[in-house]
Amino acid sequence: MNTGGVPKTFVSSDLGKTLHDFVAELYPLCRSITGEGVRDTLRLIQRRIPLEMCEVPSGTQVFDWTVPLEWNVRDAYIKNQAGARIVDFKANNLHLMSYSTPLQQRMRLEELKPHLFSLPDHPEWIPYRTSYYQERWGFCLPQKDLDRLADEEYDVLIDSSLKPGALTYGERYLPGETSDEILVSCHVCHPSLCNDNLSGIAVAVMLAQTMALRARRYSYRFLFIPGTIGSITWLARNEHLVPRIKHGLVLTGVGDAGGITYKRSRQGQAEIDRAMVHVLKHSGDAHALIDFFPYGYDERQYCSPGFDLPVGCLMRTPHGEYPEYHSSADNLDFVKAGSLAHSYTRCVEVFDLLECNRTYLNQNPKCEPQLGRRGLYRAIAGQQDKQLKELVLLWVLNLSDGHHNVLDIAERADVPFHKVHAAVEALLAVGLLKECGRPGNA
Ligand code: ZN
Repeated sequence: MNTGGVPKTFVSSDLGKTLHDFVAELYPLCRSITGEGVRDTLRLIQRRIPLEMCEVPSGTQVFDWTVPLEWNVRDAYIKNQAGARIVDFKANNLHLMSYSTPLQQRMRLEELKPHLFSLPDHPEWIPYRTSYYQERWGFCLPQKDLDRLADEEYDVLIDSSLKPGALTYGERYLPGETSDEILVSCHVCHPSLCNDNLSGIAVAVMLAQTMALRARRYSYRFLFIPGTIGSITWLARNEHLVPRIKHGLVLTGVGDAGGITYKRSRQGQAEIDRAMVHVLKHSGDAHALIDFFPYGYDERQYCSPGFDLPVGCLMRTPHGEYPEYHSSADNLDFVKAGSLAHSYTRCVEVFDLLECNRTYLNQNPKCEPQLGRRGLYRAIAGQQDKQLKELVLLWVLNLSDGHHNVLDIAERADVPFHKVHAAVEALLAVGLLKECGRPGNA
């Protein structure tokens, strides 16, 4: 467990409650990589933000992969000899292995057992299992229930369908001043699991709401896609848009009680990596940084060598490092309102940074300009961090040579970005700076 935790200010925020409520609303749906559960999830997102729903037919070739058959399930159970449902999909959708083939059969325990999965180390929990690309069936149940199964005959029903349909994903595009994009991607393919997928969905939706209300230099693209096959499908269908992606984040597992973990993009020192590291460092939060490795979530596809996009992955405790991962214990209690609010807030700070990270040119580069004459010293006088503010003004003037952006200056001066940005605004106001690349500017 990443023990960084959540800063106190976030613990009982309204923001966190709103996010957690959305997780609770999405929780009961039986999602998989295709099917009605994904569509229902996207429809709930559509109640909050405009969302384009895209359907890609089964059998469509997407790079080295093929869009699979669509899977839907109406009911599934194991009944004992007395007719009681001892394992019931309707009680918890994790009981059925995702993509289980249809079945109706009476069988003895020894025949059934190879199809039953449990977690011996956590006898109360139901594991989460899938079999997308191999036609199989199975049930998942707590070890304590498995141990109690009598040696008798069982009626097994899986009322599912696996047939040509579509892979469904959702997309929200927010145009900005430029067509350069910030990509936010989260997976929508896990059933009743809260941290591993619902936390990312809730935070992404709120980010889309927030950024829709702001003046935007960048365009934003929010993707709600099934893991792996969804990002592969999106990239295959939208290769022409890929060059526009300048920064990106995969959001996953952003709701547990641990501290924030940021996994760098494959590039390692991309602007998104530096922005995230800068925000986390100056937030004072305990956090962890990890380098890219080709395992994990959809950053695997965005960072494949043929794309090598500047897309990092924001999470809290990394998957596999908490025992609740991929089990029924990843539930509504495991995800904390404060953690969701905290993850969301750091994302907004990173977007704000990227939006403001421009390059300027000092209009008085030969020796220092006289700041006092322009009222710049007066403006900062009497404040506690007067000396620091003065130093930041001097850093901005010194490094605004057309080759350093605001983040470069903030890193070099080791000062939070917002303080450097405030100095930029003050210098712009008195005409000592101009933005590079603006029409009419150098
Ligand atoms: Zn997962």
